[in-house]
Amino acid sequence: MPTRRTTRGAARTPLGGDYDVLVCGASFAGLTVSRELAGSGARVLVVDRYEIGERQTSACGIPTEWLAAMGLMESHRQTFGRLVVHTPFGRSVLSLPWTFSTFDYPTLCRELAAQGDHDFETAKVDGRTGNVVHTDRGDISAPLVVDALGWRRVLGSGYQPPDAPLSRGLEVHPWGTGEDMELWIDRKYVPAGYGWSFPAGEETRIGVGSFDPRFHVKDTTVMLAEDLERDPVRYQGNWIPHRLRAATDDGIFFVGDSAGHCLPLTAEGIRTAFYFGIACGRELRAVVDGDRSIASALARYDDFNEAHRWKFEAMLAAQRVVPRVPPRLLHGAIGAMQAKRFVDWSFGHYLEIAPPAFAALAPPRARVRAPTRVAA
Ligand SMILES: Cc1cc2nc3c(=O)[nH]c(=O)nc-3n(C[C@H](O)[C@H](O)[C@H](O)COP(=O)(O)OP(=O)(O)OC[C@H]3O[C@@H](n4cnc5c(N)ncnc54)[C@H](O)[C@@H]3O)c2cc1C
Repeated sequence: MPTRRTTRGAARTPLGGDYDVLVCGASFAGLTVSRELAGSGARVLVVDRYEIGERQTSACGIPTEWLAAMGLMESHRQTFGRLVVHTPFGRSVLSLPWTFSTFDYPTLCRELAAQGDHDFETAKVDGRTGNVVHTDRGDISAPLVVDALGWRRVLGSGYQPPDAPLSRGLEVHPWGTGEDMELWIDRKYVPAGYGWSFPAGEETRIGVGSFDPRFHVKDTTVMLAEDLERDPVRYQGNWIPHRLRAATDDGIFFVGDSAGHCLPLTAEGIRTAFYFGIACGRELRAVVDGDRSIASALARYDDFNEAHRWKFEAMLAAQRVVPRVPPRLLHGAIGAMQAKRFVDWSFGHYLEIAPPAFAALAPPRARVRAPTRVAA
């Protein structure tokens, strides 16, 4: 268990006030939204129930180009140019056209937060009335409110597992090094889903994700770790949304897992949290700069989200089909995928769903004029 740094009891003083932008959630999505507002002069408050970077929410694997484009290479741990896929019938090695990297979660969050220009407070968000957000430390209001709180979508209509389009993921973090990023598509670990091993410097992140929320992954996560002769220690797990949701609702902007921005089939949700966080942040920035109304920003962000729906639905269709393919046939198909032309084509399209150039093209700008006070 990580050491708890978040203040408790009497140390939690009352919190309140009015801000231009209130960002709820200080992980990948929320911190990216704030980053886009840096230098705008807007009064931005970011709240999270834990201190920044305190609770890891992922195996922290991402296309390396995204880490570089966001200026977050200080958190980098290890890079992989190939993906090793195991099935009950053997292993295949896919030489990737771009690399994946693992990173250190606390360092990344610290670096991302440093690129923003916000106040930060620890508070548990309980809900809202209009644009007044209720926390365990008091009420905060802002004309621009962002829910980057993860799959619970606390400021909208939440999901109730297991009767919701959620996958479940659990991993252990034993000490020990490794060379390859590896996946297991093997029903002995999970009927629908996959197991993984992501080395990250001195530790390896080994886990199992199930597309079926009713399948409990604890026993098979332990089994995979033991099969790899690693200790099943230092657990980390969560629900993972696998269906795109509306990105706005009743005046609130939803980003990252709260909008279902995690990609189905692969459960890759970090770069998409960055991607949609940048898109949302740019809309908020335009409002703060006085170039756009809140209604227009909501509509434009919603349109941006909907333009991606068919890609998310295609990934979801693949997520539903893959577990139905007979294992021997699937092994043959993955083996055929090793062909360079196919890997380049498929992984190229996959990266394009949320391309790193989106971050690199327009880094946060310095304010060029006095900020507009955002009116509700
Ligand atoms: C085991 C596992 C491994 C994964 N591995 C990968 C991977 O390697 N690569 C990848 O791309 N994706 C991975 N994912 C998916 C990825 O973790 C998520 O898609 C990603 O974390 C979404 O980012 P986010 O900022 O939207 O939400 P989160 O990272 O979930 O952050 C939500 C934030 O909101 C805070 N919060 C929640 N509720 C409240 C509240 N009521 N009040 C105040 N604060 C609150 C939380 O403390 C947290 O800081 C993995 C998921 C799991 C479960």
